[in-house]
Amino acid sequence: MTQRSPVSDGKPYREEVEEDHEEDLVLLVAKDMALAILERGLTRETAMALAPHGLALAERMMEHFEAKEPPSKTVACQAGCYYCCFYQVILTPPEALLIGDYIDGAFSRRDKEDLKGRISHVLALTAGKSRQERLEVWHDTPCIFLAEGGCSVYAVRPFVCRAWHSLDASHCKQAFDSRYPWQGTDCHVHRYHIFESVRAGINTATTDFGCQGGTMEMAKTIDQYLNRGNAIEAWIQGKPVFVT
Ligand code: SF4
Repeated sequence: MTQRSPVSDGKPYREEVEEDHEEDLVLLVAKDMALAILERGLTRETAMALAPHGLALAERMMEHFEAKEPPSKTVACQAGCYYCCFYQVILTPPEALLIGDYIDGAFSRRDKEDLKGRISHVLALTAGKSRQERLEVWHDTPCIFLAEGGCSVYAVRPFVCRAWHSLDASHCKQAFDSRYPWQGTDCHVHRYHIFESVRAGINTATTDFGCQGGTMEMAKTIDQYLNRGNAIEAWIQGKPVFVT
């Protein structure tokens, strides 16, 4: 199924998929998967297993779907093309904790200082700003993890980054050059459904277990992770770790 990707609020995010969640089988499968993990006990290990298991589940579902219904067009995305990495990404607490833990383990002191500098820059230009004001600085506000032309957290990048793709790179360039992200790009729409629904299923399960859920902007969320120090333990204890 090929369609134009919708973009809302300057982010690749499918509002209409969220409306279907009550009867969404993908969501229910993902929720069951997350509940099975959490029922082993709310520990650092189980908390940190949620996002990786969800990402793997979404990948398997996508492969299964595409094996049954092979896409007619190939994905145009290639290393070194990063027009779509100028959106301010949204993510859930388990994704933020996974990325934060990755930073703790893989980033050098210098890498962390560079990251903090990029976060400060993005927040200074986007926090509290209207959609129009954000569009005016779109080209100056790349994702906080875009470094040296690539994603510095590629192995643990959020659901939305894995779902986001294009079948024609010229559409991405046009949207970027014209500062009009809403024009969308040709895409395989089932990929958005699968990744968004798996993410929503995990969100529902973690909320049922009394942990903070919801979606948040990544720059602000990672800033809070880095400043807080014990975000994973606090989230397990049901505390509101991230202020939206
Ligand atoms: S997290 Fe990585 S893939 Fe996602 S927008 Fe940022 S740089 Fe791009």
